Order: sequence, then C-alpha cells, then structure tokens
Amino acid sequence: MKTALVCGAGGFIGHHLVKRLKKEGYWVRGADIKRPEFSKSAADEFRVLDLREAKNCVKAVTLANGQVVDEVYQLAADMGGMGFIHSAECEIMHNSVLINVHMTHAAGTLGVKRYFFSSSACVYRDMKIGEPEMTEAGAYPAQPDNEYGWEKLYSERMAMAFGRKYGMAVRLARFQNCYGPEGTWRGGREKAPAAMCRKVAGVPDGGEIEIWGDGTAVRSYTYVDDMVDGIFRLMHSDLEDAVNIGCPQYVNVRELVETVAAVAGRKIRIKSIPGPVGVMSRNFSNGRIETTGWRSQFDLRKGIELTYPWIAEQCRKAGLAPG
Ligand code: NAD
Repeated sequence: MKTALVCGAGGFIGHHLVKRLKKEGYWVRGADIKRPEFSKSAADEFRVLDLREAKNCVKAVTLANGQVVDEVYQLAADMGGMGFIHSAECEIMHNSVLINVHMTHAAGTLGVKRYFFSSSACVYRDMKIGEPEMTEAGAYPAQPDNEYGWEKLYSERMAMAFGRKYGMAVRLARFQNCYGPEGTWRGGREKAPAAMCRKVAGVPDGGEIEIWGDGTAVRSYTYVDDMVDGIFRLMHSDLEDAVNIGCPQYVNVRELVETVAAVAGRKIRIKSIPGPVGVMSRNFSNGRIETTGWRSQFDLRKGIELTYPWIAEQCRKAGLAPG
C-alpha cells in the first residue's frame, strides 16, 4: 500500500485531497496545525503539528517503522484571499517560507521519492484584459503583484533545488482560485467565490451586496474536485517544472456575483467600495496539465450549484441569513 503525507490536511484543499487519496487506496497521514473545521478527516492518522518547526517536519514524514512516506503533498500555508494577502504580508512570508524550508529539507534529506508543492497563479505579473494566454514560462522575469506570490516563487525554486540534489521527483502546481464546500467562508481569509456566496446568502431577494472595486477584474475559479484531480494527475506524471491548474472559464467579479445570485434564485444589487482588488486580469494556458488527460469538469455555474447551498446552510446556522 502506498503511503502519503498531506501537509495542510486541516485546510480546504488538503482535506478534499485526503479523501481522494483514500479512494485511490493510499494509507494517508494528515498534518496541520489544526484539525479540519467542518468534518472529520478521512486520513488514517492525523497529526496536529506546527510545520514551521524542523523537528515536526521530520516527525510528519517519518512512519512508525522508521521509513518515510512515499509521497508528500505540501499544501500547508498561512494564506487567505486578497484581503488577507494584503494585510498579512509578514505572516505569509515568515510562516509559509519556514514551513517550506523545513518540509523540503526533511523530505529531501530523509529520502522521500515524490514531492508535490502547491504554488499559485499569484506568481505571475498582472495582465491586461484580453491579453493572450500566458504559459508557465511567463512567470519570469518575475513580477508578482504581492508578497504571497514572491514566497511561492521562492518556495517553488527551493523544492526544485532539493529535488535535484536528493533525487526527489518534485511536482509544482500553480493553482487558480479554488472554491467548494468546506472552504473558509468567513473571518477574513475567505476567497472571492465563498465571500460572494456568503454575501448573497446574507441578504433578501432584491438586496444589496458590496464588492471591492468596480467588479471588472477577471479571474478563473476552479471547483475543488477539479483541483484535486489535477494534483493527483500531476503528481503521477512526468511533468517537471511548474504546471498551471485552473478552470478555463474566465469571468469578472460581477459575473461571479450574477452566477451566485442565479443559483440562489435572488435579484442582487451590487455596490462598489474601495478594497484590495489584486491584479486586473488572468489568462493562463492549461496546456501542460491537459497533457495528463486532465480536463475541468465543473464550469462556474455547476461549481457554485454545489457550493452555494453549503455556504447558505453555514449562514443559516450562524444566524447570518435573512429569516
Ligand atoms: P487553507 O488555508 O484552507 O489550508 C492551509 C492549511 O495550512 C490550513 O489548514 C492551515 O492550518 C495550515 N497551516 C498554516 N500554518 C501551518 C503550520 N505552521 N503548520 C501546519 N499547518 C499549517 O488553504 P487552501 O485553500 O486549502 O490552500 C492550500 C494550498 O494551496 C496553499 O498552499 C495555498 O497557498 C495554495 N493555493 C490555494 C488557492 C485557493 O484558491 N484556495 C489558490 C492558489 C494556491
């Protein structure tokens, strides 16, 4: 039986990835500084560990028999949506880089064979609306728009360097925005799709919600099952260097709100307020991940249909939905 460590298994994508690895027949250890918030982990073993500490990274990769896990999926990070990325630069750069420094070192030096790292579309520069598709090579010369992107770029390079030195197969994914049930939906770390679902669920039909900026910023939003499928295929492919994973459908923030409102069956008015919008546009090639046979199975409407009811239910339970 293959063994895997999922770092960040208490978080959104890690929690879903654990379920997928169990379906694939793995023995799975989850590690995170906290347990999953909304449902029990499917991991065979869950360790609450602060992965900023080197000794905890060694504990995380080492099995009871003294051997190391076959595969490490590194998704632990101090992260959140644009609001968090712009207000917590120091925490992001300090905490996430420590996790990555110690985890790549532990995995490389102890002999892990395959290592996955979750990078981000935030490594790329801002793009103009309508610019032609950018491939992975477009990350250089580097000009990320925020410190989160710089940390990811550095950690990508570190993982590759440890891979070269220790003969560890490293796989790097650059994720687009990811959403789905059991993702953070309030508290300041939530991303745009979850925030919009919460806002729409929180007002009656005909109500008004606030968005940051004028709503013209273009993004792709990837449903979590598509993301997990991309991670699994990439990890078992021979694709070296970074690989984009994201839904090929690009929408602006107003279209995101309209999709949520349509799924909720509500008419919603939008009010623009100043806020950290992030880059103006994204448009990335999925050509590399598609060589693995991966295709996005969830367009925005389908993904929101699976996500909105879950967030609306959380709002109801928290007393945040209109009566
Ligand atoms: P998440 O915040 O839900 O999960 C990250 C997990 O890391 C959390 O459970 C957190 O507790 C854990 N963590 C933080 N500090 C830790 C520490 N010191 N020790 C151990 N665990 C620690 O985020 P997510 O959305 O599941 O993202 C997973 C990965 O994918 C991250 O690396 C993130 O940067 C990347 N990513 C996510 C998106 C997205 O849209 N969700 C987009 C691009 C990249």
